[in-house]
Amino acid sequence: MKIKFDNTLCVLCHTCEFVCPANAICIESSNEQSALYTFTLWHNSCTLCGNCTYYCPSGALMLSHEENAINTQEHKYTHAIHANVSLTTCSSCGETMLALPHTFLAKAFGSTSASLEEHFRLCPTCRRTHTFSQRVLNP
Ligand code: SF4
Ligand code: SF4
Repeated sequence: MKIKFDNTLCVLCHTCEFVCPANAICIESSNEQSALYTFTLWHNSCTLCGNCTYYCPSGALMLSHEENAINTQEHKYTHAIHANVSLTTCSSCGETMLALPHTFLAKAFGSTSASLEEHFRLCPTCRRTHTFSQRVLNP
């Protein structure tokens, strides 16, 4: 068994890093303004406790039945998941923002729809303006 990671579902919440007892996960950005993050999981350090898969809110981490080959410690830095997670841009103003995948929205709202997903392609500021104009100006 080994942990698998889907970078299209990650919402960069860092929960997996926080709950990992083995310090096997690291998420970092290259600098403060970076829209690109790197996700690393070192299989040699992972104890397969399942904490990260249990607490990941979007289903980006899964326990797979893929065989985890035995690797010597000298290969621990190559026997790892190295993936990029990118921020996206607001579909209205172009501001850099975090995309919320459908799995996350479905968990948060019970189900998802095209209009809900469209709403969450807006940054928080545009979302507030959009909600205000829909509810107050065009009730
Ligand atoms: S399964 Fe446990 S040890 Fe392995 S990466 Fe996840 S939290 Fe860390
Ligand atoms: S993998 Fe899951 S828990 Fe870890 S940062 Fe991404 S969304 Fe959060």
